[in-house]
Amino acid sequence: MLQTWVVAPTCLPHVLRRCPCGSPRSRPSGAFRVNAHHKLLDAWLLVLCDSCGRTAKLTVLERANVRSIPAVLLDRLHANDVGLIAELLQDPVVRRRNRVALDWAGAWRLDTGDPA
Ligand SMILES: [Zn+2]
Repeated sequence: MLQTWVVAPTCLPHVLRRCPCGSPRSRPSGAFRVNAHHKLLDAWLLVLCDSCGRTAKLTVLERANVRSIPAVLLDRLHANDVGLIAELLQDPVVRRRNRVALDWAGAWRLDTGDPA
C-alpha cells in the first residue's frame, strides 16, 4: 500500500547560535529591524536567546540599495511577515552568512494521513 507521509512545520524552528551567556539556542523574535542610511538599507531578523533573552541580529540585507529591493519584500519586512521569517531561516545563504543552523525539534509533526 502506498502511503504518503508529510512532515509539516508547526512553528518556527530554533536558531542554533552561541550567545555570550553560553546558551546555544535562540528563537526567532518574530520581528525584523530595518535601518536606512540615505539610499542604503540594512535589515536584520531578530532572535532572542532561549536562556537569557538577549537579542541578536541575523543579517538579511546589508547596505542594499533601496531601489534594488522589491517593494513586496520591503512591505513584508516592515510587516514582520512570519512567512518571510520562515523563508529566510530556510535560506542556506542567510544561514551561512550568519553562521547559524536550525533546530527543528518540537517544530514539526508527521502527518501520516490517519485520522487523528
Ligand atoms: Zn543568552
